Amino acid sequence: KLKTPAKIYYKFEGNNTSGSHKLNSAIAQAYYAKEQGLKGVTTETGAGQWGTALSMACSYLELDCKVYMVKCSYEQKPFRREVMRTYGASVTPSPSEETEVGRKILAEHPGTTGSLGCAISEAVEVATHTDGYRYVLGSVLNQVLLHQSVIGMEAKIAMDKYGIKPDIIIGCAGGGSNLGGLISPFMGEKLRGEADYRFIAVEPASCPSLTRGVFAYDFCDTGMVCPLAKMYTLGSGFIPSANHAGGLRYHGMSSTLSQLYHDGYMEARSVEQTAVFEAAEQFARVEGILPAPESSHAIKAAIDEALKCKETGEEKTILFGLTGTGYFDMMAYEKFHDGVMTDYIPTDDDLKVGFDGIPRFPGNME
Ligand SMILES: *Cc1c(COP(=O)(O)O)cnc(C)c1O
Repeated sequence: KLKTPAKIYYKFEGNNTSGSHKLNSAIAQAYYAKEQGLKGVTTETGAGQWGTALSMACSYLELDCKVYMVKCSYEQKPFRREVMRTYGASVTPSPSEETEVGRKILAEHPGTTGSLGCAISEAVEVATHTDGYRYVLGSVLNQVLLHQSVIGMEAKIAMDKYGIKPDIIIGCAGGGSNLGGLISPFMGEKLRGEADYRFIAVEPASCPSLTRGVFAYDFCDTGMVCPLAKMYTLGSGFIPSANHAGGLRYHGMSSTLSQLYHDGYMEARSVEQTAVFEAAEQFARVEGILPAPESSHAIKAAIDEALKCKETGEEKTILFGLTGTGYFDMMAYEKFHDGVMTDYIPTDDDLKVGFDGIPRFPGNME
C-alpha cells in the first residue's frame, strides 16, 4: 500500500477484553497483592484500559478493585466504565468529592476534566486511608516495565525464529511501559554492544513530556503525595487538553526511558492528533485491526519511516508495538470522520505553568 521497500512488523497486544497490553502487568500485580493477603487495590485509569485490565485481574484473583477514572474519559467512554463494573470494580470520575485531594483540586480548578496525575492522588489517598488496600500503578514504574518486557521477549523470539532483525523499533509512549517492555531485549543488546538498533518513542504533541519536558526530580501525581522521580516531565501540575489518546496524557515518563533518552540511546518525536487518526484509518483499511488512538501514534511514525525508505530506497525493517484496539474510541473516530478534530499544541507559556510547579532544590531545575 505504501509502495516502500521497507518491511513493517508489529507486535499486537490487543486480543483480550481490556484491549491493550495492560493485562500483562495487571495479572502480575493482582497476584502479588493476593499473595500478600490484601483485601483490595485502588488505582487510576485514563482511557480505561488499565482499569479494565486490573478489574479483570482482580475478578480472577477475588480482590476488590476501586478505580478513579479521569473525568473526560469517564464521560467520553461510558462503555469502558460498564466493562469495569461487569468485572466487579467500583468506578469514580476524578477529580471527585470523595477524597480530600479531589476536593482541593476541584476548588482550585473548577470544571477541570481531570488528569492521570489527579486520579493517582485520589487513588493513593483512598489506599492509605483504607485497611488492607494498596495502590497499584499501571505504567511508569520499573516493575511495570519489567512485566511488560514479555512484549519484547515474544517479539524478539518470533523475529529470531524467522531470522529477521529490526533496524528501527517504534512505540507510543505515555508512561513508557509498552515501549520499555518492547525495547528491553533489543536495548540490552545495544547497551552490551552486541547489536545496533534505532529506538523511537512517539508521544502526542498535546502532552510532549520527552520532546518538550525537562529532566528533573518531580512528583508523579498532581496532589504531590507520591515520591519524587527523576524523569522527563511537564510538571505534575500540567493538565493536558482533553486529547483522544487518553492513555498518553501523563505529565511524566518512566525514569528508565527518560535516562535512556537523556543518554542518547533512544529518540523521541511528537505527532499531532489528526495525523495520528489518518494513520489509524489507513492501517485499519489494510490490516483489518481497528487500532487504539494511543497505538496509532506508533503506526504514524512507522508509516513515516517507511515513506522515508521509499525516498532513499533503503530496505529497512521496522518493528512497532500495536498496543491495543480502539473499539471504545469511536467518538474520537467520529470527530475525525466529521472533520471536527482539532490539533491542540500547548504554547511555551502553557508549559511554563507546569515547569513552575517542579520542586526547586540544589541540583534540580537550576
Ligand atoms: C496505556 C496505553 C498506552 C500507554 O501506556 P504506556 O505505559 O506508555 O505503554 C498505549 N496504548 C494503549 C492501548 C494503552 O492502553
